[in-house]
Amino acid sequence: MSLLTQIQEELQQNKTTLVAVSKTKSCEAILTLYNEGQRIFGENKVQELVEKQAQLPKDIQWHLIGHLQTNKVKYIIPFVDMIHSVDSLHLLREINKQANLQNKMVSVLLQVHIAQEDSKFGLDTKELVEIMEYYTAENSSLSNVTICGLMGMATFTEDEQIIRHEFKQLMELFTFIKNGYLIHKKDFKERSMGMSGDYKIAMQEGSTMVRIGSLLFGDRK
Ligand SMILES: *Cc1c(COP(=O)(O)O)cnc(C)c1O
Repeated sequence: MSLLTQIQEELQQNKTTLVAVSKTKSCEAILTLYNEGQRIFGENKVQELVEKQAQLPKDIQWHLIGHLQTNKVKYIIPFVDMIHSVDSLHLLREINKQANLQNKMVSVLLQVHIAQEDSKFGLDTKELVEIMEYYTAENSSLSNVTICGLMGMATFTEDEQIIRHEFKQLMELFTFIKNGYLIHKKDFKERSMGMSGDYKIAMQEGSTMVRIGSLLFGDRK
């Protein structure tokens, strides 16, 4: 059994979706996993995503997982399946605007800051609430985006306790938002958390989507 199949089966038992993170990896490497049945791939740079999308099979579902600049939003709207890394209301509004211009509905996740390191992007609770108020307002203009859940990255550490605590925090924020704002929205259901080093902990803490790169593709240079 291939490594991909092993991981897919492990995830399936927890009803967790695998996003194969292919950043820096070749189209050939992506096709290898594609031919083994993987369809969801994640990239963190717009240009790389656009180039690969043009060359690879059209039934691949592309997820953007890295920081997105507002001036690059328009390039990915035509094909992107989900954007995990919405970290400001400004960006969300730009995604909505471009989606509207291109007659699309775009699925997004809000990236929340859960790690101790402050180098990582993400919203704090106050900003998250601000976005929710805006999104759920009766006269909301955000009619071309669907907020499907939250994304977060844990601290890069060997300390399992810290990682577990941070994933629990994401889960708590999810419940808080769900109950406070989106109780009737079935689309709000995803917790994108877990990478190669911590996806098992993430699954135990309620992840619905893991983003795995190096474990599948080998180390990046
Ligand atoms: C690179 C990256 C991953 C995958 O990391 P691995 O440790 O290679 O599994 C997951 N999420 C984000 C946001 C990334 O940038």
